[in-house]
Amino acid sequence: MLVAIPLESFLMVVTLAGWSAVYLGKEAAQSARPMAKRRRQTDPWIVRGLMALLLLAIVGNGIPSAVDAAWARDQDLRLTRIARAEIAPEEALAPQAPSPAAAPEGLTRYRVNARLHGDHLTWTTHLLYSNDTGETLEDIGLHLYPAAYTRAVEAIPLAETLAEGDLNGAFRAQARPGTFQVTDVQVAGTRKRSTLEDTALTVALPRPLRPRRRVGLAIRLEARLPRWPERFGVWDDRILLGNWIPTVAVREHGAWRLDEFSGIGDPFYSEVADYRVNLELDDALGVVGTGDLTGIAATDGRRRRVWTFTSRATRDAAFAVSASFQGLEQRAGGTLVRSWYRADERERGASNLETAVEAMRDFGRRFGELPYDEVDIVETGGYLGGMEYPGVVFTSDSSSVLAGVPLLGDLFRHAGFDAAQERYVVGHEVAHQWWYAAVGNDQIEEPWLDEAFAEMSTRLWLRRADGDDRVFRTVNGAAGVPARPGVISAGVEDFGSNSAYSEAVYLAGANLLIELRERLGAAAWDKVMRTWYRRTTLEIGTVEEFIDTVSDVAGAPAARRLRHFL
Ligand SMILES: [Zn+2]
Repeated sequence: MLVAIPLESFLMVVTLAGWSAVYLGKEAAQSARPMAKRRRQTDPWIVRGLMALLLLAIVGNGIPSAVDAAWARDQDLRLTRIARAEIAPEEALAPQAPSPAAAPEGLTRYRVNARLHGDHLTWTTHLLYSNDTGETLEDIGLHLYPAAYTRAVEAIPLAETLAEGDLNGAFRAQARPGTFQVTDVQVAGTRKRSTLEDTALTVALPRPLRPRRRVGLAIRLEARLPRWPERFGVWDDRILLGNWIPTVAVREHGAWRLDEFSGIGDPFYSEVADYRVNLELDDALGVVGTGDLTGIAATDGRRRRVWTFTSRATRDAAFAVSASFQGLEQRAGGTLVRSWYRADERERGASNLETAVEAMRDFGRRFGELPYDEVDIVETGGYLGGMEYPGVVFTSDSSSVLAGVPLLGDLFRHAGFDAAQERYVVGHEVAHQWWYAAVGNDQIEEPWLDEAFAEMSTRLWLRRADGDDRVFRTVNGAAGVPARPGVISAGVEDFGSNSAYSEAVYLAGANLLIELRERLGAAAWDKVMRTWYRRTTLEIGTVEEFIDTVSDVAGAPAARRLRHFL
């Protein structure tokens, strides 16, 4: 259509010009013709005019139609080719358990047995906790983020940001909280006392747990899912299970880091662990998410199936459920990339795959291979662009927020904003597989370590792939946000809104890294990043350790430059 529209306007101009020429020509001809002429014939200018009009009508209708038809044929061919390569979620089955080379033994283990009936979820997490804190523990602190979705809508994390972008009113009309209950907590097989404060669960241990010892916990939960478009909840025909598994908090300075579930940023902080998730669903539903799909088992005569996902050395496990997922897959280095979408999002699904593979190859070459053998990109129909989890990315475009809004959707599409945003978001979210999933960080106190790094990675990849910053500029407007002191040590609580946060931490934060790269030169910078990635993969990195790495690899002046922004 994009091709046909300028052509149609061009033909309209030609038609008008033709008509004017015909009339002007007629007057000129009449004045020049001798009045004495006896026989009155049909005026040749009228005939010529009609002929010209006919010709223009044929051309005017024919050319755009031909262009349209050619475009539609190409499009059909392209969609048929995509459809032929498509897989269903069941076909992602890989019965052998994953074994990333770098995954350490003896990690904490999560075994989750979940059942979903409509929007009703029950799940029991069996946790075999390994105490590698170096301390003797009296209790264990865990995050139960689903508890936040029972608050009033406006108090649920991201509500403000979602309401700001709610152009068609769908969020305000449909969003509603869910319910949530801790139905049972057991330690070593015995029912135990626990306290839930907001999203923080503290479980008292029957006897102190010495360093390097293990203890088994079982936490049984029940929820009616909220109607919510991001992270956790039901929206349209998709169910998102993000931040839903009880996660042991990080232990620092003799206390559990049970920070409040902030509405700013992605305030999650966890250590790597091994996960196995069994999810029982109706037969008609499919599920995609973190780790490898290592089993699908039918339940006896109940028209339900249990899907088993296994992942090693991961910080969390998130899933998306739908009756209509279709997928495409391609390798990027040692990692299999899959893109999941609905049939009516086929083109977007294909371009998400292309973008993700392109970006991941670039990041793999720049920083080092990912320790995960699969990464999924899932179109979730949400609002906010993208949300990263280990091994899976939830993405959304402007279509759901613009559905029913006249003209704006077409304008965004034709102006190239949609395509640019999609490319940018997918690049940024897959970069988080390096910065957040593989290299962990404190996303509450030191979000610069993953957000600015994901931004910097995306911008460097786009510069190399496109030769310029056009995609970045289309999405972000001006890039000239100078970094101010404090930017690399700012926490999510230092900001009043997500826009202020992203301007400082993402934009200015990435500018600082890119500026440092320009000072040091690309080769030295790549060495810094590769060293950082090697040192901290599957660990938790800190800003101080990054500055030390810069100092080791690139020298004290570069480290001093960074320190200026602490
Ligand atoms: Zn991000």
